[in-house]
Amino acid sequence: MSLEDRIRNGLEFDDDTYYFLSHVYTSLVAQVHSVVVTQKNFQYLRVWRARSFGPAKFSEEREECTYRITQDIFKFYVVPPDPRIGKAIEYFGKEYLLEIAVYDNHQEVLKTVNSGDFLLLNNVHVGSKNKIHTLSIHGGGVTDYNREIAQIPADFADPKFRLFRRRCARIMVSYIKESVLQPCQMDDDKNYIRFKNYFDLVAQVHSVVETKRGFKYLRVWRARQLGTAEREKSKENTMFYVTTDIFKSYIVKPDSRIGHAVKHYGKHYLLEIAVYGNHQNVLQTLNSGDFVVVKNIHATHKSVYGNLTTILDLHEDGTRFNRGIYPVPNNCNDPQFRLYQRTCRRMLELFTDEGVFKEFEIERRISLNHPHVELMNRSLPRENIEEKLSEVVEESVQAESSSADSEDTMCAKPYSKIEIGRSIAVDYFTKRSKRPYHFLTHAHTDHTRGLDLTAARPVYCSPQTALILPKIMGVDPKHILDGTIHPLELMRPHKFEGFQVTLFDANHCPGSVMFLFEGYLIDEFAGGPVLCTGDFRADKTFMNRLDGPLNFLSELRLARVYLDNTYFKLDLEFPTRKSAQKILIKEIKAKRDKNILIPLHRLGRESLLEETSRILKEPIIIYKEKLEIAELLNHFKKKIETRKSNRKIEVVKKEHNILKSVYLILSRRNSRILFQNSGV
Ligand SMILES: [Zn+2]
Repeated sequence: MSLEDRIRNGLEFDDDTYYFLSHVYTSLVAQVHSVVVTQKNFQYLRVWRARSFGPAKFSEEREECTYRITQDIFKFYVVPPDPRIGKAIEYFGKEYLLEIAVYDNHQEVLKTVNSGDFLLLNNVHVGSKNKIHTLSIHGGGVTDYNREIAQIPADFADPKFRLFRRRCARIMVSYIKESVLQPCQMDDDKNYIRFKNYFDLVAQVHSVVETKRGFKYLRVWRARQLGTAEREKSKENTMFYVTTDIFKSYIVKPDSRIGHAVKHYGKHYLLEIAVYGNHQNVLQTLNSGDFVVVKNIHATHKSVYGNLTTILDLHEDGTRFNRGIYPVPNNCNDPQFRLYQRTCRRMLELFTDEGVFKEFEIERRISLNHPHVELMNRSLPRENIEEKLSEVVEESVQAESSSADSEDTMCAKPYSKIEIGRSIAVDYFTKRSKRPYHFLTHAHTDHTRGLDLTAARPVYCSPQTALILPKIMGVDPKHILDGTIHPLELMRPHKFEGFQVTLFDANHCPGSVMFLFEGYLIDEFAGGPVLCTGDFRADKTFMNRLDGPLNFLSELRLARVYLDNTYFKLDLEFPTRKSAQKILIKEIKAKRDKNILIPLHRLGRESLLEETSRILKEPIIIYKEKLEIAELLNHFKKKIETRKSNRKIEVVKKEHNILKSVYLILSRRNSRILFQNSGV
């Protein structure tokens, strides 16, 4: 039997016969309340089915002889209850709760569940011990005992399952309906139009959509505009709306009458609310046309493609504020609500004969959720650059589809600075930048432009970068105020106001790091964590780390990536450090009687030079600034044994101006220049 069939089987469970069950095995579908470990180290999966088990009139009697986890035997939560399910059980009583002892192989599954998940529990043993009613899932798998705990996929479309899930969502909030319905008594003009920071509303569901970036939007209408007509017209231009470009799919399709009504009256009749975290569970239980109360919506203004836009968010958690989406029960008698419901119905009657409603052109290709990627271009006036010209490009959101015809749209437009919200700038130090926190990925001069260490403006970087920065910038440490350079340890989060940052090795040059920004301010700006790569080398060593110490990165859903890149050419073979070294040594050996000039930046290739000198057994002369910086980083400390040689191998300052390089060769006759553009 397939999982789908087994789930369907579980959905057949009849609560009313449960009372009579004893010493049998049964299968059922339920929603997770919590997972608990007892003092004797038994593991209990606690679930509910949004009703009492057995006929209600027997439930009290039954409750008296049912095994229960009490405070005395409770040890700790493996999975704490979602506060809403927790409160519902408190309200309806323990007879709504099933506590199932879980044994052996099934305990593994418990580690992966969350409160609110829907599970298939296959082959649960209903037993009794000393006249106490017990439930257990014993060891053994699907194949041998037809026994399992399985997650039910969110998109499982069986109508019976959808109904069950809807019932859970409704019962969960039914008992708080009085307080929840307060928004019905509000005056739209006064309360909604101002878009106070946080507000509640009652509305009718238009649809639920997922965008290409994986955001979920609850779209509602209120059968009227928000606020007075004149003010509303101007508001329409500044509201955020889901467009065809970013639309991916419907989770709940619009009822055609509501669709036509909004189309007729204008988009300012529509409110689109980004829904995060646990509140997304409710979205799947909605139908277009349902009435919902949405509590604690956050209205913010932010710049989207340069335009000030009003955005509505329902952040995750927030039980303190009763934050959530509460379906209004059909039998709600609140007079205000009744009136409102009638208004909606009357208006929709006008659109009964409009036919099928079409809104977005639905693409049939398969889409993947990629983060929004910004590719950095540091192309600058040539005389200013020391590092190789790199390309930085902003990739538009369209790169999200993996299909062949969208591959073309992956080309990106230049993007020359990283500013995250109003707080953070990365590798961007112009005096104009008013952001309080400046971060530096590494000390190459194309990333430090505008950085003034004497200006008493703090810069955050890795400890190695902090060590060499004054020397690289040519500033006497005496002139740098205390606290200007802030070294941040790698691989652990550092907290700032409204965000945190984690640094990790970018595998580019000494001290080079990537920055991972997370937190409330970052979510508000990008909708999730943001990664700034800086220059990096994604070779085997680096990629292996993604499976090791950096594996937390692969689990993150990045909302945005700022990608620095040197070439951004997919067809270009990029030599490994090892093969680059081999070529270098071979070339130097081949030119036995020639002096060799190796143009290099002040920072980088220290190990390459050490190794090369050791293998060739020839001294390599390094220019003063580079040597001093390398020594700060503990390079060139060990003596390398060399033979006497008739020619000179010399590291010279790397010039970007090709004429300067030619001049250099001409001025030093009998010399060869190697590795002008190595990218090593
Ligand atoms: Zn660099």
